[in-house]
Amino acid sequence: MDLGIKGRKAIVCAASKGLGKASALALARDGVDLVITARTADVLRAAADEIASETGVSVTPVACDIKTPEGRAATLEACPAPDILVNNAGGPPRGDFRDFTPQDWLDAVNGNMITAIELIKATVDGMVERKFGRIVNITSAAVRQPIADLCLSNAARAGLTGFCAGLSRETVKHNVTINNILPGPFATDRLIEPARAAGKNVEEALAAIGSTNPAGRVGQPEEFGDACAFLCSANAGFITGQNLLLDGGNYRGTM
Ligand code: NAD
Repeated sequence: MDLGIKGRKAIVCAASKGLGKASALALARDGVDLVITARTADVLRAAADEIASETGVSVTPVACDIKTPEGRAATLEACPAPDILVNNAGGPPRGDFRDFTPQDWLDAVNGNMITAIELIKATVDGMVERKFGRIVNITSAAVRQPIADLCLSNAARAGLTGFCAGLSRETVKHNVTINNILPGPFATDRLIEPARAAGKNVEEALAAIGSTNPAGRVGQPEEFGDACAFLCSANAGFITGQNLLLDGGNYRGTM
């Protein structure tokens, strides 16, 4: 399927691994030139080289912490006028809300709400002027179905979702859409590393997580990347303000 975005420019944040990298690769397979970010320069460089050599697009790595103003400035300097923005960053820590300080809450809101809003603020008006823009925020299934010990994530991501619910209705008439993808369990380091750290067999640990899911498995990053690329496609201009749950049916609601 031709997504109609060949030659477009995208910023994909937190894209050296996992869901961000899969989204970057899917966009690159459709001919989108990329600026990708992550904090660890050599891992990011390796991801950029891998994506560029497979797809032939231009991939510029910007090693930075996207949660900082300096990181965002460096990213925007490398791509001041993106057509596509995929917002992503690591999630806040787990824990009991009784143990969190006001600073913990501010950090979570900064990382998983304000960071995305700042990048949207810096790019959305240009998208509106150019009459094309696709913004996708990688959030979490916890926005739909909160997880108690992910209270920082539940709250900060819900804040971003609420903000985008409003803005997305203002920009869509200019062919600029804003949507969120809500991952359930995916086979990335986020699930793999805790299993490894606990000395578990990774395959068995993922299978155990997947066994409670209606799909009988966890999701694969490529499945996520393809969904993200579709929301960024030329023909997705009538989809905005949506929260696409990719969870194998784990959320048991009718809608
Ligand atoms: P991952 O650990 O596989 O990859 C995270 C990526 O983000 C890495 O490239 C890392 O370098 C980068 N990163 C983290 N913090 C960054 C920062 N401050 N600045 C720049 N880069 C940064 O994780 P993932 O599974 O791809 O998760 C992506 C997002 O989706 C996270 O917010 C995560 O909480 C959320 N999520 C994931 C799952 C899942 O099962 N994988 C489920 C729900 C939500």
